[in-house]
Amino acid sequence: MWWNNVETKPGTGYPTLWEDQGKYRGGWEKRGKSVRLRLHNRGEGLANIFYNPSLPSLDDYYEPWSYRYGDLTSAPSGDDQPVARPVSMITGREMTIEAGPNWDDDLGGSGIYAAGDINLAALTTEERQQLFLLERLVFFHLPRICNHCLNPGCVAACPTGAIYKRGEDGIVLVSQEKCRAWRMCVSGCPYKKVYFNWKTGKSEKCILCYPRQETCQSPACFHSCVGRIRYLGTLLYDADGIERCASLPDHELVEAQRELILDPGDPRVCQKAREDGVHEAIIEAAKKSPVYNFVKEWGLALPLHPEARTLPMLFYVPPLLPVAATMEDGKYDLGGLPFDDQVTGRLPIRYFAALFAAGNDQPVRAAYRKLHAVRLHRRRETVGDIPEELVQQALEEAGSTSQEAEAIYRMTSLATFAERHVVPPFLREMAIEATTDPFERKESTGAGFIRPPKRGW
Ligand code: SF4
Repeated sequence: MWWNNVETKPGTGYPTLWEDQGKYRGGWEKRGKSVRLRLHNRGEGLANIFYNPSLPSLDDYYEPWSYRYGDLTSAPSGDDQPVARPVSMITGREMTIEAGPNWDDDLGGSGIYAAGDINLAALTTEERQQLFLLERLVFFHLPRICNHCLNPGCVAACPTGAIYKRGEDGIVLVSQEKCRAWRMCVSGCPYKKVYFNWKTGKSEKCILCYPRQETCQSPACFHSCVGRIRYLGTLLYDADGIERCASLPDHELVEAQRELILDPGDPRVCQKAREDGVHEAIIEAAKKSPVYNFVKEWGLALPLHPEARTLPMLFYVPPLLPVAATMEDGKYDLGGLPFDDQVTGRLPIRYFAALFAAGNDQPVRAAYRKLHAVRLHRRRETVGDIPEELVQQALEEAGSTSQEAEAIYRMTSLATFAERHVVPPFLREMAIEATTDPFERKESTGAGFIRPPKRGW
C-alpha cells in the first residue's frame, strides 16, 4: 500500500509509468463536446468485467521482499562477512531486487528511470540530452496522495458503486462492504491512487484522514510534514459547471477549473451557499482557506495532469530554483542562463506545463513570474541589493503588487499551523445530527446541515 508517496521527478514514479494513459487508460477523454471514461463505456465495462487488461502488474508496483536475517547469525565461522539474502514475500524464494520504493530517488539511475518520464516527450531531443548531462542534473520531489477529484474516474469506473464522494466535504472513499474486487477503480484513476489489497480482497485508497478531520484535526501527512509544504482548506465551487469544465480543450482546463472555484468573499456566493444548505461554519472556513489564496487569488498552485479531466482538488506550486547567492542587474547570477532556467531549476517550462497544465505553458509561466517577483521583493527587503525599479518591474510583469508579494511570503514562511490548515468544524457530526435527530430534522435546511438551534440550551 502506497497511498501516500513522494516521487523524484523527472522519473517514472509509482507504479512505474503511472502517467502513461496509453498503457493504463485512466481518467477521461474528450469525445466531441463531451467526455467519456478512457477505460470503457457501459457496454464494454460489462463485457470486460472479468478481464481488465489495463491494470498495473506486480512488476509495476515491485515485488515485495524481505531479507533472510537469520543468515547473519547462523552462518558458520569463515573469512567472509555473512550476507542476508533478499527473499520474495510472494514466493518465499531468493530473488534479485530490480525495483522498489523510491528506487529512482534523487536521480539514482537517472539514465534509466528519469529518462523514462513521459513528460519529457514535451521537450526537444537536445533539451532531453541536456538534462542528463552531469553538470546539469536536476530533480525535484512530487508528493502524491489521492486528489479527491471533482469528477473522479475511480467512482465512474466502479461497477458496484462502492466508491463515493462525500457530499459534505468531498472526500472520496471506498466502501469496504460494497467492494467486489473488480478493480476497475484502479484503472479508472489516472493517478493510480487506488490500490488493491490482496489480503482483504478490497480496494483501498487515501481517506484524507477523515476520522481526524471529523475531530477538527488536519490529515496526518499535512500535520506531520516537516517542510510545512501542505496546506488544507475549504473551497466553494459551482458543481453545475463540472461537466462543461471537464469537456473543454486541454489548454483551457486550468483556467476553467479556477473559474469553478467561487469567491467566499463575495456576498452573493455566500448567500447562494446558504440557500443551498451549506452551513455557516463551512462558509466561514472557506473565507479563511489558504488553498483559495494559492489556487485562485494568487494563481500559484496548479492541478496535476489536468488533461485527465478528473478535476483534481490537490494543487501544486511548481518548484522554484533554490536561492542563488549572488546577483547581477537584479538577476541571480547563474552564468547567463535565460529567465526560464533561472526560476525553474533548469528544467524547461514545457516540462512543468506537461505536468501541471496539460501542455499550456501560460499558467506555469505566470506562476513562476509571481514566485520570482516575491523572491526579488523579499531580497530587496532583507538584503537590499536590488533597485526598487527592478522589483516593481518584476511585480508588474507578474501582475502582482508588493502587498500581495508580502502576503505570499507570509503564508509560505511565517503562517501559523492554524492558518495553514483550516479544517471546518465537526462537519460530519453536523450532517449526522441533521439526519438522525428528529427534533433537528424539522429544522433541516434540506442539504443535510442543521440551522443553529433556536432552543436555549
Ligand atoms: S485521484 Fe483519487 S479521486 Fe481522483 S480518480 Fe484517483 S482515486 Fe479517484
